Amino acid sequence: MGWDFDIGVEEHVTCRGCSGDNCHPLRVRVNQGGKVTQVDHERVHSETAVPSGRGTSVAIEFSCEDCLATFFVAFQFHKGVTYTGRAPGIPDVRQVSEGGLPAMWRD
Ligand SMILES: [Zn+2]
Repeated sequence: MGWDFDIGVEEHVTCRGCSGDNCHPLRVRVNQGGKVTQVDHERVHSETAVPSGRGTSVAIEFSCEDCLATFFVAFQFHKGVTYTGRAPGIPDVRQVSEGGLPAMWRD
């Protein structure tokens, strides 16, 4: 089953730091009241964290190819309203020990 995306060339993720266009997805984090499920290039795992608010959040972390900044594009669902925004990336022990979290995919 595939999705029928309606992708416009003018609608794409840009870097929070330098406004560059070459941003690569690193991981997806879903926070449901402090129960977090994360998907990255090699695994799916669960952990506990601070709740992201009363509702659920879905955040995709990106890395900028140009300035190496990491940042999230996030969606917060609360009482039928979906909010969206961007935030700085969060440290990952693998980023420190392995020289960076690899992208989920590249083409
Ligand atoms: Zn950048």
